[in-house]
Order: sequence, then structure tokens, then C-alpha cells
Amino acid sequence: MARAEKITPRAQDFSAWYNDVIMQAELADYSPVRGCMVIRPNGYRIWELMQQALDTRFRETGHQNAYFPLFIPQSFLAREAAHVEGFAKEVALVTHTRLRATGKEGAGAIAVDPTSALEEPLVVRPTSETVIYAMFAKWIQSYRDLPLLLNQWANVVRWEMRTRLFLRTTEFLWQEGHTAHASHEEAEREARTILDIYRAFAEEWMAMPVITGVKTERERFAGAFRTYAIEALMQDNKALQAGTSHDLGQNFAKAFDVRYQTASGGLEHVWSTSWGVSTRLIGGLIMTHSDDHGLVAPPRLAPVQVVLVPIWRSEEERSRVTEVVTRARTDLERAGYRVAADLRDGMKPGAKYFEWEARGVPLRLEVGPRDVAAGQVVAARRTGGKAPLAMDTLVGEVGSTLEAIQTELLTAARARREQHSIRGVDREQLLDWFRGAGGFAYGGFCGRESCEEGIKAEVSATIRVLPDPEFRSAEVPQVCAWCGEASITEAVWAQAY
Ligand SMILES: [Zn+2]
Repeated sequence: MARAEKITPRAQDFSAWYNDVIMQAELADYSPVRGCMVIRPNGYRIWELMQQALDTRFRETGHQNAYFPLFIPQSFLAREAAHVEGFAKEVALVTHTRLRATGKEGAGAIAVDPTSALEEPLVVRPTSETVIYAMFAKWIQSYRDLPLLLNQWANVVRWEMRTRLFLRTTEFLWQEGHTAHASHEEAEREARTILDIYRAFAEEWMAMPVITGVKTERERFAGAFRTYAIEALMQDNKALQAGTSHDLGQNFAKAFDVRYQTASGGLEHVWSTSWGVSTRLIGGLIMTHSDDHGLVAPPRLAPVQVVLVPIWRSEEERSRVTEVVTRARTDLERAGYRVAADLRDGMKPGAKYFEWEARGVPLRLEVGPRDVAAGQVVAARRTGGKAPLAMDTLVGEVGSTLEAIQTELLTAARARREQHSIRGVDREQLLDWFRGAGGFAYGGFCGRESCEEGIKAEVSATIRVLPDPEFRSAEVPQVCAWCGEASITEAVWAQAY
């Protein structure tokens, strides 16, 4: 593996830095298919840990996992007008089912068999609302069938022209929740419950602080009545939409005729929600914490939480330190930590440190002959600082150190976000802000789409959310940051991924 110095400094080129961090940590790689990525074991482990944490919360709140087909009949996508408009320009379509040999050489040796054309082309799902509602129509008859609370872990395809590892790829992995309810209040409560789960996950697991709120009509999901989102600020001061939760109203229920018999015998359309987070979260994790030495993984999601590195000069020292390293590894693994012991021969400890740093391991334990004699190890945090830990109390101390690192990462990220936020902006400040370093800009908003478009045209900033009460400024803005007319709500602008 190449050394950590090969990482482009963040300050020099953020985008090159981001790719370097991914390559050095072996999280993902480019694939032979343009726009598609390969998630390597180190990256996939992070995704699995994310899945476990989220899936537990989904179950605790009454959701069950199911699986729906990869293919959707083309006509399904057309049933909800806004939805088709939102996705039509980025779908992959299956039109034929066979190839045939041509008798030619090379790339022309096989061609599409024209006799295998499908009567109705199939869309590779960009999202699964339509196919799921077709099934809901079959499964839901009475109010007793409600609420129906499903989640699917799946891949989806949205044909992207400009792709970036984890953040925007043609195929990506995600979870999509789909629920049906007997009342709008219940659907609204569900969308909110999920937003809270996403927020807690981002903060408690990813150590990534987020702002929650509702999207403007211009920014909401195609076909939704209302879209909620969690938005995080990356180290380049661009916002990342990290998860969305939609109150779909009765839009899809009407398009797919999903009705239920009420307790009083009437027939009503169900109210529904959908919500999702994707492998984009891994991009968010990278851009929130990592530095010029490589990945910084929050302990709760780190594929390896603790790496033990032995230091020796003679064979006699080697056997002494290896024994201690092996024992420490066993103790820590028994306590449930994800541990690696780097016993590789012919490699200097310093070179090993570089590697594990680039991979984002939160805690490194160095064990030399003097440490063995003193009954201790030296603990080096990925985020800086070294301290001896007594072998007798190692497991407990490792646990509290990892917890402290987890907390410090969130605190530091939150402080960073606030340093790069500005409140009560007017037009000039807004323009200056986004022509400069940027970040989150809070200001009044009149509610008009023309103001959103005006700002976007000038400085490429969009309203990320109309923030929930706890994120709003102490001083309520009186006028729209753009047009100066009466403000109806506070808004948060940012340039975004
Ligand atoms: Zn305005």
C-alpha cells in the first residue's frame, strides 16, 4: 500500500483529497462500468455497521423488512405525474432479453436479438414507490391492515452523467421505507419519527451533526406532499443532504388506487410515507471527519476500532511483546471490540502507523519491550494525543477512550459547522458569503420560488431546509434575504452536493 503522504492536502484540492482518502483507506474503487463503483471490504464493513444500527431502530419502531423486484413496468412510472417527471431523465431501461451470435469477430460477435423485444420495457428501479403501491393495493383492504410499515434494503439505479464515489453513482445501495396509514396525522407522525431516527443515527453513530427541517416545494421529492431532510455541513463548507423522509399524502394511493374500508364502512385512500438513506452516508462520514493523513472513522462505525502494533529489536523482545499483543487482542475481542494486531514482519512500526492512520482506526496501541516491563501500552488516538494505559485495566480504558473519541468528534464537527454558519443575512451578505468560503446561511424567506431561483442563479446556493424550531435563530428574520419583502419563515441556504 502507498504511504499516507500521497494524499492531496484538503486545502489544496478538496475533491482530489476526498478521492485519495477513499483510495488509501481502500473503501471503494472505480469499476469497468462508467458511473458505477466497487465498494471494497473496508467500505462495505462501514455500510454493514450502518445497516445494523439503522435496522435495529426500524424494528424497534415496528417496521419489517421485505424485498420488491429490481424491475418496474414502464407504465407504472407514468402513473404519478410529478414522480415520472422527477425520474424520467435518469432511468435505465430493459428493452430486450436475448443476445445472439453474429458469426463476426471481436466486439461484434454478439448482438441484440431483435425478436426478443419486450412488449413493455422494464425500468430498473430508481426508487420503488410504484411497484410497492401496486402491491399495497392488493394487500390493504380494511383499516385492520393498517398501518403497514415496510422497509427494503436494496440497490437502485439513477443514470448519472457526473459521478463521485459514494456521493453520486449510477447504482447505489440504500434502504427505502414505505408505509401506509389510515390518517394524514399518522403518516405525518411516521415521517417525523423516521427523521428523528436519521438525526440520532447521524449524530450518535456517525458523529455528524445535522440540521433537520422541511424542504421547500422546489426542493421536495417528486410526488411528495412534504419532504423532511437531515442536512450536514462538510469540511469544504458544502451541504450534504444525508437522508430524506417524505409525507406522500394520498398522491401515490390515488395513482395506484390503494383504498381501505374504514371502521364505519366507508372507502378511503390510504396516507403514505417513504424515506431513505444510502451509501452516500459513507461519503458524509469521510468528509465530516477525515484529515490529510486519511480517513478518520468514528469508533462506533470503524471497521477496526483498535489496532495493536508491536515494537521489537531482538527476537527475544519480539516474543515478549507478541505475547502481550496477542493477549490484549483476545481480551479486547472478548469484550466485543473490533481489533487488529499488526504482526507483519519486515515492516517498520512507523510504516504500519501510516497505514492504519490512513484507514481511520480510532485507537492504536503500541507495545514495546519497555511497555511490557512497565505493564502498560501506549495509546495513540487517530485524532491526536498519546497516553499510557495500564494492561490490568486495558479493556475498560479502551472502552472509555473510544467513547471519548466518539463524543469529541461530534463536538468538533458541531463547532466547525457553527463557525461556518451565518445568521440574519441580507442580500449583500448572502452573496459575499457564497462568493467567499460559504457554509450555512440563515435568513428570512418570502416563500417565493423566484427568490430561490435568483439566489441559485447568482451563487449556486439552494435552500437546504426550512429549519425545525431548535435550529432557528434567536432573532426571527423579518424580511426575505433576497427580495426584502416580508419573511414568512427562516431558511438555511448552502451550496450542496
Ligand atoms: Zn423573497
